[in-house]
Amino acid sequence: MDQLLMIKYGELTTKKANRNTFITLLTNNIKNILKEYQITIQKDRVRMYISCNTKDCDAIVSKLQKVFGIHGIVICHKVNTNIEDIEVKILELLQDQSYQTFKVETKRADKRFPISSMEFNNIIGGFVLKNTSLKVDVHHPDVRIHIEIRNEGTFIYTNEIRGNGGYPVGVQGKGLLMLSGGIDSPVAGYLSLKRGIDLECLYFESPPHTSVEAKNKVIELASIINQYSGNIKVNVIPFTKIQEEIYKNVPDSYIITIMRRMMYRIAERVCSLHKCKVIINGESVGQVASQTLDSMVVINSVTNLPVIRPVACLDKLEIIEIAKKINTYETSILPYEDCCTIFLPKHPVIYPKMEKAICYENLFAYENLIEEAIQHMETITKFEKETSSYL
Ligand code: ATP
Ligand code: MG
Repeated sequence: MDQLLMIKYGELTTKKANRNTFITLLTNNIKNILKEYQITIQKDRVRMYISCNTKDCDAIVSKLQKVFGIHGIVICHKVNTNIEDIEVKILELLQDQSYQTFKVETKRADKRFPISSMEFNNIIGGFVLKNTSLKVDVHHPDVRIHIEIRNEGTFIYTNEIRGNGGYPVGVQGKGLLMLSGGIDSPVAGYLSLKRGIDLECLYFESPPHTSVEAKNKVIELASIINQYSGNIKVNVIPFTKIQEEIYKNVPDSYIITIMRRMMYRIAERVCSLHKCKVIINGESVGQVASQTLDSMVVINSVTNLPVIRPVACLDKLEIIEIAKKINTYETSILPYEDCCTIFLPKHPVIYPKMEKAICYENLFAYENLIEEAIQHMETITKFEKETSSYL
């Protein structure tokens, strides 16, 4: 345990009343994501300190950069609160660096220390000027030397690594993400996690029309966004019979409308079974026929649950940019067909009518099929690829 990381909390510090809940949740999430490492955590209302082995430090920092609720990560060095120890450590930190200018920023939380922050800035500034070739620049220094004088000792650090911001995952409870193999829904999942929503995923598969590779792709996407959570499950719904019945009974132009109404109905049922408060998906206004406002009205009307669409108002290019940033893009563009594309009609209705949708879907006994599909739902908690083929 020879390295100390200081964690600066994200947006949660503004939520005074809930602060303890936030911090407890963040601590649990951090413990969960770092469970393979030997660490100890100490925390107060302003900061969290993680002690770890120096050899693990880089790997831990990169994992922490994915945890929501963290504003900044600082690799810091604890010394006894006396000028000599502080000066020695600062010289050590500045050694072999290519900085030309610096600024000292002292925070004196421990008022027993007799020197004011301003005065201490000057003392240490003078020391650095005398012992190095660095010059002072108070506006745009190459390096800021932070000195935090606290009750438990003095913490010295230079650069702060940016955290991912957002709220600790779980602070809002759980949502059900309709996760396909496309570009949009993993991004929608990531954005929901960022606002503190814990996720379960729901994937509709239609073997043999969709392949095991398509399912593996979804599992892979779930495992990528799970790096931001550590807690994600994937529920897989066998959708073949429902899709085939739709295909047999419903006029072509309404196939997608009805299919999506079935998906929403199933999602609502899974929400109630798995205690999810909302449905989340990757719909984006106007992107395809089923995502016009008129389509959304007809499709959404089968559920009373709120449906969150984090990418609703983003352009495809903006969604792609996030997908690249979170590393889902390369997996999303693998060419395995999804159930939505396999049964895609030539001319899907853009302005569906509610009465028609209801009339067409009553042409087959969908309630029983939904019940059966839910009974055969598979829940995946470990993200290992399946090798067997459906065929
Ligand atoms: P693309 O990036 O190609 O648009 P997509 O997954 O967003 O892929 P859409 O047809 O736009 O595909 O579907 C809209 C949304 O519906 C998806 O973002 C996803 O939330 C949900 N969805 C579609 N197909 C499935 C599926 N097979 N299983 C679960 N959810 C699905
Ligand atoms: Mg889409």
